[in-house]
Amino acid sequence: MSTIFEKIIKREIPAEILHEDEICIAIRDVNPQAPVHALVIPKKVISRIANAREDDSETIGHLLLIAGKVARSEKLDDGFRIVINNGTDGGETVPHLHVHVLGGRQMKWPPG
Ligand code: 5GP
Repeated sequence: MSTIFEKIIKREIPAEILHEDEICIAIRDVNPQAPVHALVIPKKVISRIANAREDDSETIGHLLLIAGKVARSEKLDDGFRIVINNGTDGGETVPHLHVHVLGGRQMKWPPG
């Protein structure tokens, strides 16, 4: 069964797309936790970072590069946070790897 993100990639479900290339798509999160909340999602389905393989390293590096690019285009010049939730304890709800980019407010540490 496809995840919600596969459906967004295939344009079966609408989303506000901030960036797209052959490796990934970046969209605005439907339930934002900060004034700017984007998700950078690989087109290849990797369920979670713990299940990534050696040959996914280029894809994963690309996700981080695009996360930085999205932050710049969203004018998060004062800073931002990148988050990857993994598994139940990590708070993951969609089993398709994605990088959260959060900004536009002061982030807290430690995270909840
Ligand atoms: P996770 O909890 O797995 O780290 O993150 C999943 C994220 O996907 C959540 O922040 C949630 O708000 C977002 N999300 C879930 N369904 C949709 C959707 O249909 N569209 C968009 N744009 N974001 C979604």
